[in-house]
Amino acid sequence: MLSNAIRELASQLSGYILQPGDPAYEKAIQIDNGRIQFRPRLIIFPAVVNDVKLGLKFAIAHHLPLSIKGGGHSAAGYCMNIDGVVIAMKDLNKITFDKKKQAVTAEMGVIWYDIYKFMQNTGTGLVPIGGGCPTVAPPGFMLGGGYSFVSRSYGMSIDNLISLKIITPDGELRHIGLHSTHKDDVDLFWACRGGGGGNFGIVVEMEMKVQKPHASTMLVGQIHYPLEKAEEVLGVYNEWVEKVPNSMAVYGYMGNQKDLVDQTTNVKVLGLTPVFNGEYAEGIDWLSGLLKLKPISTSLFNMTLPNWEFYNGNFTKVAGRASYIRSTVLPKGGMNNKVAKVIIDAMNDAPSPESFAVWTHTGGEMEKVAPDATAYVHRHSRFVPEIKAIWDLQKPEDTLKNVQWAHSFFESFAEAGKATGAYVNYIDPLQHDWPKMYYGSNYKRLQEIKKKVDPHNYFNFQQGIGSEFNPPKGQVTDLSPLNRTQYDPPKK
Ligand SMILES: Cc1cc2nc3c(=O)[nH]c(=O)nc-3n(C[C@H](O)[C@H](O)[C@H](O)COP(=O)(O)OP(=O)(O)OC[C@H]3O[C@@H](n4cnc5c(N)ncnc54)[C@H](O)[C@@H]3O)c2cc1C
Repeated sequence: MLSNAIRELASQLSGYILQPGDPAYEKAIQIDNGRIQFRPRLIIFPAVVNDVKLGLKFAIAHHLPLSIKGGGHSAAGYCMNIDGVVIAMKDLNKITFDKKKQAVTAEMGVIWYDIYKFMQNTGTGLVPIGGGCPTVAPPGFMLGGGYSFVSRSYGMSIDNLISLKIITPDGELRHIGLHSTHKDDVDLFWACRGGGGGNFGIVVEMEMKVQKPHASTMLVGQIHYPLEKAEEVLGVYNEWVEKVPNSMAVYGYMGNQKDLVDQTTNVKVLGLTPVFNGEYAEGIDWLSGLLKLKPISTSLFNMTLPNWEFYNGNFTKVAGRASYIRSTVLPKGGMNNKVAKVIIDAMNDAPSPESFAVWTHTGGEMEKVAPDATAYVHRHSRFVPEIKAIWDLQKPEDTLKNVQWAHSFFESFAEAGKATGAYVNYIDPLQHDWPKMYYGSNYKRLQEIKKKVDPHNYFNFQQGIGSEFNPPKGQVTDLSPLNRTQYDPPKK
């Protein structure tokens, strides 16, 4: 019987297990997106790497769905499952720093906050190329590519990955990385840099380069314009970003802010979020053209990158509310007049005041890596916009209208901006043709590697490599893909 087997497994683990009925279970199944409420049969919290192996072996032996939970920010909840095994990594959290090599090595239960704090405490000023949100975890983030505020200066997070340790479906612990020479290891390391979380095994450790910022503090902040100025502002911005140095990244925001005079009402804004990796005064010079466009509010700070991430990073969290997330990837020139009109129309039509969209400003050092050098294909993008439709978890009747709004907003956004794909880290179960959109021409090689590493497809989920799931294009009427994380094998 399964409960006997679980008891036996628990006796072999250095860590522990939670099951439905255990007091801590309900908290352990909560993830960032409150709409995801899946109840696995058991959650394993490994204390040592061998526990991860035991958990994997157990799931395979008992034919149970298997998921791995890092920071729990998968927009679709692919870190959880129904009635299966979840391996929750949080207690594997050792971090070490090699000063000579300028590298930090972390077990994969950490979140970016832990690494930022750890590096701050070294007093070196070195920073990892990590997430803007401190509660996101390195494995999900880096396996999908990983954009940092300083990626235009230092490349994507994966461009700073030196090596990783992964337990593959055959139960082996493999140390692969830039040092690898065997073809299978080289292939797997390639796939782990952009091929997406949960596909090839369980990553238990990553070794990454840390970088010295160009100045000890950076110019960071937010510049907000009234939404109706979007055409004028984006008209300038779209060309301006082609002239700035790689040390300047200016992300974007569309949403609400409190009216400065009447704090009980909101105003709709288009925001720009600069992060200048250099001296404050030089950053201000670069921004002067944007500041002349009469923003309604400007908050510029001079602080270290980790402090900016702590200050700003939690702002885009869903934090337990109900959400639907979707992305697009735009080329150079993508923030054009047509896009500005789409933004104004859609934001004025938003069914929920809590919804917002942001975009990442890409290019720079990220673009210097060839699209097939790692599994991350969108090297020539310039902007990666993401929509977060957020509504009241207690109002499931609002789901359809919010999802339809966000879906059609981003269909129009993609069309107007001549999109070239979408970003796997903002994974969307309603994304038509997702293999092509996320992986482009790299998908074929990913499938070949997947077949070799995981021939029995133990690591499978709705949008896992090799899954034939494909939601239809067009108007959303069926929300069921949002509620399934498991793979439906194709019917023979
Ligand atoms: C508030 C917020 C801010 C964000 N900011 C950024 C950003 O600045 N830049 C950016 O690029 N992305 C960003 N993202 C997207 C983020 O990178 C992805 O959501 C990422 O997948 C989250 O990883 P996680 O480990 O926190 O989530 P999880 O849900 O735990 O994991 C995500 C996926 O990876 C798998 N996985 C987790 N751990 C492992 C492991 N050890 N081995 C193998 N597979 C594993 C999971 O099974 C799941 O499929 C942000 C997301 C949020 C919610």
